[in-house]
Amino acid sequence: MIYTFEDGYPSDYEVKNTILEIGRRMYAKNFVASNDGNISAKVAPNRIWCTPTGVSKGYMTDDMLVLMDLDGNVLKGSWKPSTEMKMHLRVYKENPKVNAVVHAHPPAATSYAIAGLPLNRAILTEAVMGIGEIPLAPYAMPGTEEVPESIAPFVNTHNGCLLANHGALSWGKDAMEAWMRMESIEYYAQVSMYTRGLIGQANELTCEQVDRLIERRTNSGITTGGRPLCRNCGPDGSRACESGKFCSCHPDAGGTCSCHAGAQQSCSCGNGSSSLNSDEASLVAEIVSGILAARGYR
Ligand SMILES: [Zn+2]
Repeated sequence: MIYTFEDGYPSDYEVKNTILEIGRRMYAKNFVASNDGNISAKVAPNRIWCTPTGVSKGYMTDDMLVLMDLDGNVLKGSWKPSTEMKMHLRVYKENPKVNAVVHAHPPAATSYAIAGLPLNRAILTEAVMGIGEIPLAPYAMPGTEEVPESIAPFVNTHNGCLLANHGALSWGKDAMEAWMRMESIEYYAQVSMYTRGLIGQANELTCEQVDRLIERRTNSGITTGGRPLCRNCGPDGSRACESGKFCSCHPDAGGTCSCHAGAQQSCSCGNGSSSLNSDEASLVAEIVSGILAARGYR
């Protein structure tokens, strides 16, 4: 049976069964290699079941799982808990509404984490509504306090994050939600990779489309997830379009673009303007007349 967190805290049996099932899916989907990855879920406000270290998550049995309190004390179980539990405990401490945490190394999401790129462009309607943007936590030395420190800023505002040069982390109101978010993160990363890397083009959503998707997300009760960047926004979000209309202003301009309905040229930032100065204009005229002459038109 797969437990979802609808009617208060589940039983030990339900939580352990769900963790074992997520471990099998995580391994079968190639989201982890060898003994990587870890899963935890609450069974009471100050009790979590978590996965052990040194075991493939695809082949766990319930006697391997460990019961801990949120201070990291082992209450039940003879196996050693995952070394990355500090990261899980910090998520629970930062946001008491979180009841489960999943950590894996899915290949596409991990590739973005290695490239130092967050998943923050609005390209998929389902991703905007379901998980929102996925920020990148800065590099942290595994097993140290740097790891929980690196993810803490996102735990109340987002639904998961990438871990630089490492993998991905997701959380949720129950173990299945945390796991589904991990699946969504990897799908978002794969599609980003196909469109941007292989096809070389991604038609990003407009500000207006993103606004409407986020409105629907909020109406469905999801208040976390941030705001992915629409097609008008620069990498740092500084040129977010205010009018909600597509602005074709120069991709590299550093100024603030004041967008404008249907306009192609009336950008007020002053950088990268498409109009030519007189020297450029006469050079273009010269080139054009040379081409026409060579083709016998003049
Ligand atoms: Zn890891």
